[in-house]
Amino acid sequence: MFSCTGYAATAADARLGPITLDRRDPGPDDVQIDILYCGVCHSDLHQARDEWHNTIFPCVPGHEIVGRVARVGASVTRFHTGDLVGVGCMVDSCRDCKSCRDGFEQYCEQGFVPTYNGEDRQGRGITFGGYSRAIVVDQAFVLKVPDKLDPAAVAPLLCAGITTYSPLRHWKVGPGQRVGIVGLGGLGHMGVKFARAFGAEVVLFTTSADKVADGLRLGAHEVVLSKDPDAMAREHGRFDFILDAVAANHDINAYLELLRRDGTLVQVGAPETPLPVSVFSLLMKRRSFSGSLIGGIPETQEMLDFCGEHNITAEIEMICMDQIEDAYTRMLRSDVKYRFVIDMASMPATA
Ligand code: NAP
Ligand code: ZN
Ligand code: ZN
Repeated sequence: MFSCTGYAATAADARLGPITLDRRDPGPDDVQIDILYCGVCHSDLHQARDEWHNTIFPCVPGHEIVGRVARVGASVTRFHTGDLVGVGCMVDSCRDCKSCRDGFEQYCEQGFVPTYNGEDRQGRGITFGGYSRAIVVDQAFVLKVPDKLDPAAVAPLLCAGITTYSPLRHWKVGPGQRVGIVGLGGLGHMGVKFARAFGAEVVLFTTSADKVADGLRLGAHEVVLSKDPDAMAREHGRFDFILDAVAANHDINAYLELLRRDGTLVQVGAPETPLPVSVFSLLMKRRSFSGSLIGGIPETQEMLDFCGEHNITAEIEMICMDQIEDAYTRMLRSDVKYRFVIDMASMPATA
């Protein structure tokens, strides 16, 4: 075991603060990583505030991790000391069920082990995430990061990137399709970039008038202010596919109505309370309403390689570790442009 500093929530209503964590020494298949950057996902906030009612305290959030390999176990061949690597939302799964064998570890039939707030499969306790100086992860859940990209701006790809890339690929979004992205936050801005890169006609829906210019700059062909009923009415029945990345409760039927016959709305945003669906929104045009969870390890690597080839990264605002509460407050005001990333050099050396 070795110790390192992390930042933890100790209760749903407590401010995050430094703690000392024990990390295991790397076993034969493990990679020990010195964390350079960690993105701040809205899920970190949901989890730290126990909005999903399953948080185990103390909770060290963070699942958009980029760092350098510090040590490797004897059986590790794919990674070497000094390599730039990433870790996303998962650190283990059963590896044996159909989903795992198919490369969809996020849908593991025994449940994947989340990077934080999860129970280790070997009985080593609760997992602690990337708001920390170091992490030890089995090589099967470590990703290679393309060298030519800015490592800080790569960090958000490990969750926001794959969570939007995966459904856009699964539903085969591409040329000739009119695609809506709802909410210009961490996930949404990656959704806009990927949908554009895949050749679709991209329309961003935002509640924030001050994000219109950014939406266009990031790749949307059009931006619709969702609070304008006339603008929404003009989009009725015009979409093949919509990706909804909104973190709060909102009227989902207003977006289902925008789909054409046989169109699909995929929900990736995970608000605390249910989103009521009117069946008439679905049955009138045989529309589908679905969900999607992050992405498997093979697809995450594919996404990182795609980003390397196409020079795609997140738009980031770098923060110090002790600014995390301000970052959460701004996130709740939809004031994120478009992902906070923690510079881990700012983590205190001791708690
Ligand atoms: P974020 O950066 O805070 O962005 C959320 C965006 O939603 C905001 O920027 C805002 O965009 C819009 N929004 C917020 N409140 C709204 C409201 N009341 N009505 C309408 N729009 C609102 O969050 P994120 O990190 O992208 O995460 C988004 C959600 O996805 C979270 O719930 C998170 O837990 C979830 N998530 C799911 C997965 C998955 O695997 N499915 C993975 C990661 C995260 P505008 O200003 O443009 O309106
Ligand atoms: Zn996330
Ligand atoms: Zn499995």
